[in-house]
Amino acid sequence: MSLAAFDIKGWCPGGVRPMPSGDGLLVRVRPWYGAFTLDQARGLAEIAATLGNGHIDLTRRANLQIRGLREARLPALHEALDRLGLLEDEAARNVMVAPLAGPAARALAVALGRAMPADAPPKFGCLVDDGGPLSIIGERADVALAVTRDGVAVRVEGEWLGVTDAEHAVDAAFGRQRSLAKMTVMPTPGHRQLGRLGGFTGLAVPFGRLDAQQLHDLVASCVKAGASEIRLSPWRALYVDAAVEASGFIVDDDDPLLRIEACPGSPACTSASVDTRTDARRLAAMHLAGTIHVSGCAKGCARSTAANLTLVGLEGRYGVVRNGTARDRATRMVEPNALEHLLDG
Ligand code: SF4
Repeated sequence: MSLAAFDIKGWCPGGVRPMPSGDGLLVRVRPWYGAFTLDQARGLAEIAATLGNGHIDLTRRANLQIRGLREARLPALHEALDRLGLLEDEAARNVMVAPLAGPAARALAVALGRAMPADAPPKFGCLVDDGGPLSIIGERADVALAVTRDGVAVRVEGEWLGVTDAEHAVDAAFGRQRSLAKMTVMPTPGHRQLGRLGGFTGLAVPFGRLDAQQLHDLVASCVKAGASEIRLSPWRALYVDAAVEASGFIVDDDDPLLRIEACPGSPACTSASVDTRTDARRLAAMHLAGTIHVSGCAKGCARSTAANLTLVGLEGRYGVVRNGTARDRATRMVEPNALEHLLDG
């Protein structure tokens, strides 16, 4: 089934819009300035457990998706999100912030959100970054502000305009200040890192999916560890501002599950004839080299770019594609119960 936007009569709260999916409606929830408070995260776990099917996905735009809702539950969802303050202030929820951003970058994010034009389109996206190994500056955004040693660098529609001070950066981003200085450093994109990172802990989940109980338990661990919030990232990893122990999360950057993408597959998606995620876990245990994509069908929802190995479900078997995408031609077929023979021949 298509994930195209879905109009539900009389229901269009803030930026939260339900979309159809193989397991019911899914609802994308965007955090304020890249972070959920612990109360919000606890409330979202509760919503997923009571109104959805308990499954929660982390997205590559640093949002969270609650799955498996029925249309009849949408008014209750609306009320619950409103109580958590997650229907308010759409602009605050359009600003992606580097997961380990310090106070200067976070203050800039708030200033940017407040200055966002009222007529900005719903998909207008901004990001604020302050460099370092977990920089998100490589992500797409209509407006990006990067705190650098020169000052705040301003990027609009992919083009770096120059650098200014923090006070004028937001005006510069919205074209209200024209004189920008030359940049002497170019911001460099970072990448996902997990485990203990200074005062933070980075946590990932296999295939970007966690369940309501896992999120609930994470919040309890955060409270115990003295954390104040859960930050999201475009790498589908969560960052907590304390040293937390959380079971079921991946904290090792070398975990083979991190190199495998798998869509929900069967039985969650009606287009699938194979249990992609169970098979992906079996592949992870085989410690194959390179990137791997296990797709329930040729649509390739979990990954659009080429992987070293792609398995594409077709009538209960997998087509094997080397260095390609789920849409490319398979060179051979393999039965799910014979994956260990993948490297033969
Ligand atoms: S790629 Fe996976 S999730 Fe997407 S339509 Fe096919 S089976 Fe469903």
